[in-house]
Amino acid sequence: MTPRVGSGYGNSNANKAAHVFAAGFGLLAAPVISREKAAAAATGESNNMNAVPLPEIDQFKLGSYKFTVVRDGINISEKPYETYGTNQDPETVKALLTANFLPPDKILSGYSPALIDTGSDVILVDTGFGASGRARGAGRLAEGLKAAGYSADDVTLVALTHLHGDHIGGLMENGAAAFKNARYVIGQAEYDFWSNKSREGTPAEGGHKAVLANVTPLVEKATFIKDGDGVAAGMTAMLAAGHSPGHMVFHVESEGKRLVLTGDTANHYILSLLRPNWEVRFDMDKAQAAASRRKVFDMIATDKIAFLGYHMPFPAVGFAEPQDGGYRFVPKTYQFDI
Ligand SMILES: [Zn+2]
Repeated sequence: MTPRVGSGYGNSNANKAAHVFAAGFGLLAAPVISREKAAAAATGESNNMNAVPLPEIDQFKLGSYKFTVVRDGINISEKPYETYGTNQDPETVKALLTANFLPPDKILSGYSPALIDTGSDVILVDTGFGASGRARGAGRLAEGLKAAGYSADDVTLVALTHLHGDHIGGLMENGAAAFKNARYVIGQAEYDFWSNKSREGTPAEGGHKAVLANVTPLVEKATFIKDGDGVAAGMTAMLAAGHSPGHMVFHVESEGKRLVLTGDTANHYILSLLRPNWEVRFDMDKAQAAASRRKVFDMIATDKIAFLGYHMPFPAVGFAEPQDGGYRFVPKTYQFDI
């Protein structure tokens, strides 16, 4: 999605009430949780409906790989039908939301970068907003990693699904690489599109400038990949273009367990999964994006494998089951814990 954050979430209450929820093996974070939770409770801020706690982390194991998902931020916006199902009657979009126990006129989107600790690599997939989101309560990745027991210096590889601002904003911090020990894996087609000077004077100019500021300074440490290329041990890239020209998804496998990081292939767990053909305002090539959604989620549903969708409800991990011409989202519960 495009880098819009924060309507209602840049308020200081949300920041003050921030606490960390750690699950699984994130025991290092335990003292932080209790102290900050206690502080929030003491000020009564936990009763503030706007004070959604951030950052939040979730940890689980896929085979021998440890995943840490961080909620970098959230965004609440109005009129979902102006973003999803733009080729549908707004009443049809509202009815589908209502039928799924969701409000018809407001929508919440999360931003969920993920860290994969393979034992030999510490791989970060997408980086959140970084400094560009902080005034609005996002850009919380570094705090989340710290709560999980990692620092930015631990990251050995940053893999990017695509180069929109909500995925690359965290690459640089104060004019320097935020992950100074990392190499980068970037889709060749994606970088070629956004870095091209011919984007100037087009609707893609803002994205072009963001890439020049956040990605171009790092290209000496980058490997540019195409469909089917390996990213790291047990991790392969697949082209799933449409949302952006070179959008990639990453297939991860450890000890026979599989998960696909789907990036922005589908951005809403009802409106994009149940209705994969509905057009989405943020998809640059709408027909290609719909075709990529069907291809990726057909594979996920057929093979019954897990996926992590960057904008799905936190912790953004689940499964997809064929239903009604689309896919029913089945959020993960304890599948990875026992
Ligand atoms: Zn996005």
